[in-house]
Amino acid sequence: MKLLEGKTAIVTGASRGIGRGIALMFAQQGANVAFTYLSSVEKGQALEQELTAFGVKAKGYRSDAADFAAADKLVTDVVADFGTVDILVNNAGITRDNLLMRMNEQQWDEVINANLKSVFNLTKAVQKPMLKQRKGSIINMSSVVGVKGNAGQANYAASKAGIIGFSKSVALELGSRNIRCNVIAPGFIETEMTGALDQKVVEQWREGIPLKRGGTPEDIASATVFLASDMSGYITGQVLNVCGGMLT
Ligand code: NAP
Repeated sequence: MKLLEGKTAIVTGASRGIGRGIALMFAQQGANVAFTYLSSVEKGQALEQELTAFGVKAKGYRSDAADFAAADKLVTDVVADFGTVDILVNNAGITRDNLLMRMNEQQWDEVINANLKSVFNLTKAVQKPMLKQRKGSIINMSSVVGVKGNAGQANYAASKAGIIGFSKSVALELGSRNIRCNVIAPGFIETEMTGALDQKVVEQWREGIPLKRGGTPEDIASATVFLASDMSGYITGQVLNVCGGMLT
């Protein structure tokens, strides 16, 4: 049985890393997938082909999740192209790391807009079609850093903690309409975002994780499929830490 058969999903930031892993597993599980990216046009086109090979409808959209009007237009376009939206995964995110002492206003604003405002933008836009059909599952990508903080990432941690408060509130507001909203807090997942780190630092990270390895995009995708599917039909307003035991 395919867990997402016949459902339509929007996945933001799917040209690489975790988002790409989610889009692929969604298609494998029978979902039609609308996905976005910011600048990776070629990677987006290649992913569209890969997803279609699973026998589902798939389309990539170049759309800035941090832009309110663009997010609204994206959802209008997806509903026109696919007919509906059942699942939203707010995955797009960036880092602009620096110690607070050196962090400038631009680094703060860029991260808050790309990571937190984007979640507001897209969630607000999918509200209408989801309310109309009286069902929906929204999954927001936070981070263990949003739960426990991290030196050098005050902007990123604030954006990811903000996602948790936002999601719990949305779960309370929309629960009576059968719209669920949950959060995934990934630990150390090995993607381009973490690829920029020093190899020595990466080794230290792996050693400190109870399961003794970094996570993969597939580890996060599996949890996302669960929260997107009817298997999690009685779960809303929760934070699922997918972190190899980093948070206990
Ligand atoms: P990544 O490899 O850097 O990929 C980020 C994706 O987001 C790319 O597809 C990028 O598109 C897209 N994107 C960035 N800004 C965007 C915007 N304004 N509008 C639309 N798309 C945008 O990152 P990742 O490691 O897969 O991380 C995915 C999510 O998981 C992020 O929210 C991140 O904070 C979170 N997370 C990651 C880790 C980790 O260890 N990797 C841990 C905890 C949480 P382009 O290719 O076009 O730039």
